[in-house]
Amino acid sequence: MTVYRTELTVRTERRVQLVDITDDVREAVSESGVEEGIVHVFSRHTTAAVIVNEPESGLLRDVVNKLEDLVPEGAGYEHDKVDNNADSHLRAILLGPSVTLPVAGGEPVLGTWQSILFVELDGPRTRRVLVTVVGDG
Ligand code: ZN
Repeated sequence: MTVYRTELTVRTERRVQLVDITDDVREAVSESGVEEGIVHVFSRHTTAAVIVNEPESGLLRDVVNKLEDLVPEGAGYEHDKVDNNADSHLRAILLGPSVTLPVAGGEPVLGTWQSILFVELDGPRTRRVLVTVVGDG
């Protein structure tokens, strides 16, 4: 069994931004040599998330707008007294820090409309995403 780990760097330009990292994850799986197994994609941050969904531009705007509806900025949060980004943390908690996908035939398994999206929630920043591939070559 192989355990392969690599780190992606994601640079964001906006406070809230979705970045398609599917190709980078595909490349990591390819480099790992794993043919059958799983790939875990993990954000090492408290104000960012990783999701699987469709990178259609209207939907990406809908996601940003809905996050702003659900967790508005500056709504009297305790944490805003410390570093003024409670909304970013709360949005990250709703989405979660990681996804796990099957690997088959040396590639991550995704549905036709599925992509792996990094979700920046307190940008712009340079972010690190850990990709761990486990399985047999
Ligand atoms: Zn904070």
